[in-house]
Amino acid sequence: MLYHGSCHCGRIAYEVESEPVSQVIECNCSICQRRGHLLFFVPRSHLRLTTPEEHIASYSFNTHRIRHQFCPVCGCGPFGLGTDPQGNEMAAINARCLEDIDLAALQRQQYDGRSH
Ligand SMILES: [Zn+2]
Repeated sequence: MLYHGSCHCGRIAYEVESEPVSQVIECNCSICQRRGHLLFFVPRSHLRLTTPEEHIASYSFNTHRIRHQFCPVCGCGPFGLGTDPQGNEMAAINARCLEDIDLAALQRQQYDGRSH
């Protein structure tokens, strides 16, 4: 199905094609812990920006394998970009930034990112 997401102020907006999301990853790494991300993954090609790419700021740290995308105006981090172990371009979508989703109904899978 097609999900619609955005940052709070709307300078970043996007569409995501995904199976209906029933499960998200709650990670305890240093950035997810602070930002409260609830993530699921799709191939990069399933994420389509509907606002200009120049609106996005990017942050990476440690191994710089994930580029955390965020809005420099309102501060929301609606998705991240990176590659999976096979080298495929992937997007990590922050379910908290989607419009059409019931967060309380999602199963949260704990991921120990702090140790990885
Ligand atoms: Zn914003």
